[in-house]
Amino acid sequence: MRIPVRPKKSLGQNFLQDNNVVEKLIRFIVPSKEDSFIEIGAGTGVLTSRLAPLAGRVVAVEIDRSLIPFLNQIPLVEVLNEDIRKVNLQTITKGTKLRAVGNLPYYISTSILTSLIQQREFLQDMILMFQEEVAQRIVAPHSDSEYGLLSVLAQYYCVIDKGFRISRNCFQPKPDIESRVLRFSFRTGTLQSYEKYMKFLTQAFSQRRKKLRNNLLRNLQISPESLDSAFQKLGIAETVRAENLTPTQFDLLIQELAL
Ligand code: SAM
Repeated sequence: MRIPVRPKKSLGQNFLQDNNVVEKLIRFIVPSKEDSFIEIGAGTGVLTSRLAPLAGRVVAVEIDRSLIPFLNQIPLVEVLNEDIRKVNLQTITKGTKLRAVGNLPYYISTSILTSLIQQREFLQDMILMFQEEVAQRIVAPHSDSEYGLLSVLAQYYCVIDKGFRISRNCFQPKPDIESRVLRFSFRTGTLQSYEKYMKFLTQAFSQRRKKLRNNLLRNLQISPESLDSAFQKLGIAETVRAENLTPTQFDLLIQELAL
């Protein structure tokens, strides 16, 4: 596979150039004619062109105007020359939940993920490619050194399948590190709203090395007695840091504190 353009580093352009990986991705996605896809950062359309004949609908979002002619050549694809950060998923769902896929531009991959989670009511699932480091942060278990706000947020709203690793040699230009594809299936049931949960996590992780208790006392309008009583009720030790709590424990704490 030859890449027909000069890649722009500023847009995180690392084009996939290995057909075996594209086929492996397709097998992992398992597209069907019932599915509507949004592909984020479609590039020259390497994945888009394999996906389009197998899917019901494909909307390809690409910020780089110079790549749009490549995408326009692919039959049955709706091409959006937009910044994904400005795309409101509701405007493109047409009543059917979307499956989000993409080899994400690394410089904004975490903000794309959080924005997709925030708009999850319009999504069926997500199969997204990240740099391995970021993928490891997303899936890290609690109390792990990699576990942080992003891990809690992603694991609270999604069940995450660790997918597979992709060698840096499969991209043009070669990124510094390997990539990994993750599958995110959204959890059902009653969950906190994104806004409330995210606000609480931001307060809890505001000073990572400090005790959770101190971060919450500093950031919430709450007495030490009420906080200690909530901790006690949930069996949370006074000495824990935010990184020691599971996503569910954060939820229970929000409920207990009646935030
Ligand atoms: N999907 C292609 C592939 O796998 O070969 C390209 C993947 S490349 C890692 C990321 C793509 O995202 C680039 O084509 C880049 O131009 C595009 N991109 C970067 N920032 C974007 C943004 N804010 N909104 C939409 N697309 C963006």
